[in-house]
Amino acid sequence: MSKKIFVTDTILRDAHQSLLATRMRTDDMLPICDKLDKVGYWSLEVWGGATFDACVRFLKEDPWERLRKLRAALPNTRLQMLLRGQNLLGYRHYSDDVVKAFVAKAAVNGIDVFRIFDAMNDVRNLRVAIEAVKAAGKHAQGTIAYTTSPVHTIEAFVAQAKQMEAMGCDSIAIKDMAGLLTPYATGELVKALKAEQSLPVFIHSHDTAGLAAMCQLKAIENGADHIDTAISSFAWGTSHPGTESMVAALKGSEFDTGLDLQLLQEIGLYFYAVRKKYHQFESEFTAVDTRVQVNQVPGGMISNLANQLKEQGALNRMNEVLAEIPRVREDLGFPPLVTPTSQIVGTQAFFNVLAGERYKTITNEVKLYLQGGYGKAPGVVDEKLRRQAIGSEDVIDVRPADLLKPEMTKLRADIGSLAKSEEDVLTFAMFPDIGRKFLEEREAGSLTPEVLLPIPEAGAVASAGGEGVPTEFVIDVHGETYRVDITGVGVKAEGKRHFYLSIDGMPEEVVFEPLNEFVGGGSSKRKQASEPGHVSTTMPGNIVDVLVKQGDTVKAGQAVLITEAMKMETEVQSAIAGKVAAIHVAKGDRVNPGEILIEIEG
Ligand code: MN
Repeated sequence: MSKKIFVTDTILRDAHQSLLATRMRTDDMLPICDKLDKVGYWSLEVWGGATFDACVRFLKEDPWERLRKLRAALPNTRLQMLLRGQNLLGYRHYSDDVVKAFVAKAAVNGIDVFRIFDAMNDVRNLRVAIEAVKAAGKHAQGTIAYTTSPVHTIEAFVAQAKQMEAMGCDSIAIKDMAGLLTPYATGELVKALKAEQSLPVFIHSHDTAGLAAMCQLKAIENGADHIDTAISSFAWGTSHPGTESMVAALKGSEFDTGLDLQLLQEIGLYFYAVRKKYHQFESEFTAVDTRVQVNQVPGGMISNLANQLKEQGALNRMNEVLAEIPRVREDLGFPPLVTPTSQIVGTQAFFNVLAGERYKTITNEVKLYLQGGYGKAPGVVDEKLRRQAIGSEDVIDVRPADLLKPEMTKLRADIGSLAKSEEDVLTFAMFPDIGRKFLEEREAGSLTPEVLLPIPEAGAVASAGGEGVPTEFVIDVHGETYRVDITGVGVKAEGKRHFYLSIDGMPEEVVFEPLNEFVGGGSSKRKQASEPGHVSTTMPGNIVDVLVKQGDTVKAGQAVLITEAMKMETEVQSAIAGKVAAIHVAKGDRVNPGEILIEIEG
């Protein structure tokens, strides 16, 4: 008895997303497509939220144009994308008409297989996307966002798979975004899924903890049909098991993939050279990191938190935040940690530790979550916390998108003549700010992709300055030591200059504006808060909105400002009742902890 195992290569999407901050350009994909198309992959993963975002934000490529070019260059291979259910490629719930329009256009432009997931595993958030994919005559893959918790039992995952089967899905994927799967747990889960439902089972597992290849082997032995791999030069660590390795492992067995190892070697060598071109985006956090098996915190989340804590001069509190994350997750009913719930949980944990008191500050996203705005929590949420966060407001128990009116007409009107096609309208819908900016720059003929730095010669120290000019520094800020390497300087555009730095091995991009704008912004001129009527903030961030005017009367506890830090919005309240005497901030201002932002006279 033999059973062919089918392979999806992630090289054009998740592999470079996991290793190179999603920066691979279409020009580096097209020359190898002829060979990729001859391999006989079941599919190539080519598109998702991060690839779309990076195209528009950094590469100044039209993501739809990329898709059409790949479609033309890969006529014999299914093209696959990752879709965040009702969130599509964005961070909020879209109305059903946007979901239908997006899926229809993705299908027309070349996507054959839609892997659809919801961060809460709330299948109500998958329904419209699944229906739209089936209406387009394409493959709808229902996804289990894998995590571990007391409520994430094999029975719960099987029940979810059965629901997705009943909703019309063509296959089931186990999406282990964090690298939490272990080999025997994988075997048991796959065995149960195969026994209780009839769809093919795909395994998508990151090798973060060094276990993914073993997990795939146990999955295959227990009946899994498909595996996700990455060509070896973009494999392992936070990426996926190497394609050539898995093909070799199964070769000659009853599970032979039938793929040509010689051809795969040629592709691997091609991408080996491509990876070097993107050296400035390589981080030191892409190798195997077993911590995820202890604290369940995905690698990407750890490096984000490390950066945020460094900004606060509080890197020594990392272990406290790592310990707080599981507690916040439990309070919220154990959501899987994947976009956007990873940011929601991580930021709240960060606030809880740095404020010195749990839930002293509650982000707007946690409020929305506790209201049911992202869907149903997998477990039971802490009722006391929910009441503290939302007061007497109602909890939503319907599908969040049921409360949304159709949006396409308004989106078309908002973007106007900048959109030359329905695809352009959808680009704007996914990313309102950077999408609009992209369309404006395209209209003006000023699209400028970020600069790729020359490949350093072997053994040479990359030097951004002239002979003898130092580009490596060790600096000390508030007792924390950092190693800073200047890796490049970009062109000056719109009065801003982009610097590429590496801070303790993590690539960073810093945009400098002319000095006089900083002074004009006045952030350094604000006085330090000293009285109860001085409204201030505990986190550095930006002002999203000022909710009061001079002369307004406010109640104690009334929200007067909305600030944003780490992509999360927070309301800032007045501690006392009184009159607004002075406002020292405006929308868009950068603010620092302790500054007087608004003065209230009691
Ligand atoms: Mn992934």
